[in-house]
Amino acid sequence: MVNEKRLIESFMELVKIDSISREERNLADFLIEKLEDLGLEVIVDQAGEKVKSNSGNIIARLRGNIKKATLIMFSAHMDTVVPGKNIKPICDGEKIVSSGKTILGADDKAAIAALLEVLHIIKENNISCGDIEILFTICEEIGLKGAKNLDISELKSQIGFVLDAGGRAGKIITTAPSQNSLEIIIHGKSAHAGANPEEGINAIQVAGFALSRMKLGRIDEETTANIGVISGGNATNIVPDKVTLKGEVRSRDGGKLEKCTEQIKKITEDTAQEFKAKAEVKVNEEYHCYNLSPDDQVVKIAIKAVKDIGLQPELCPSGGGSDANVFNKKGFPSVVLSVGMEKVHTVDEYILVKNLKNTAEYVLSIIKTVISGENLDE
Ligand SMILES: [Zn+2]
Repeated sequence: MVNEKRLIESFMELVKIDSISREERNLADFLIEKLEDLGLEVIVDQAGEKVKSNSGNIIARLRGNIKKATLIMFSAHMDTVVPGKNIKPICDGEKIVSSGKTILGADDKAAIAALLEVLHIIKENNISCGDIEILFTICEEIGLKGAKNLDISELKSQIGFVLDAGGRAGKIITTAPSQNSLEIIIHGKSAHAGANPEEGINAIQVAGFALSRMKLGRIDEETTANIGVISGGNATNIVPDKVTLKGEVRSRDGGKLEKCTEQIKKITEDTAQEFKAKAEVKVNEEYHCYNLSPDDQVVKIAIKAVKDIGLQPELCPSGGGSDANVFNKKGFPSVVLSVGMEKVHTVDEYILVKNLKNTAEYVLSIIKTVISGENLDE
């Protein structure tokens, strides 16, 4: 039922509309018009003002004719990473790539194109369904800011499907980590390096000792830690009085996240004390982990809908966060689905037409599964 030609054209049109984070407005205007043409009620929330974007999140509602069906939400994010301006997609019939100078933007416009295609199919075939909400968020790529500033009570749905993972359609992300970001500032004491170095405390050296004592990289199967940025010092003849380190800890287990973060903090503070320096450690929770079970309704529906279109479901963990982390933390059960995008956040990003099409078919299958009322355990 998917119109492949229309789907490809729609995808190509979407990626040509620039929408890097905080500049989603042109895309939002385009989508609002499309959604209204397709018969949805559309509102734009106030999140944009809070996160300094020129657009808010779009919340659209399709009124279905089956009143007792479970209300479901599909979401995708409108923003892209850089280099994401003036994208020139190329399609050879099987694969869609960028010109090689920019990303493609299949992350996450493959999801948007698939959702629009499904709304077209529902309208032209008069398909019966329950109420469906479509959420297009802003600023996902710069810290899930659109989702974090979404008033979840605006959504009437009971469960959500976040279309925003790489890999073929059929992959279902049931668990994702928490992430803490770290900013560590070590304060030493400056002095002339040649005349009176004994009066100084070398902040860079203290940082070096602290770093050598930290356990970084893969901590265990569910936990990773990294210090990725270091800056400090002014001149070779000055004992440096300040150095800043930036890093992160991720874990799919909240307790391990705490423990690993605490260890880094303690090592830094103890090392600073040893050298009579001072350490400031700022920890910020970027997003919170979630763990869904195969018995959760949202996962059951996702699995059955994959099987119904002849694909193999695959439950997998994610190494990163998405809007679903925020929704789950707000008490709204959501699962992340793969949409076929590959090598995202690089200029080699691509998507196979087959996977784009499967994603649209998968969304349609989810809608049918929800209204079929069949036993989900089959
Ligand atoms: Zn994405």
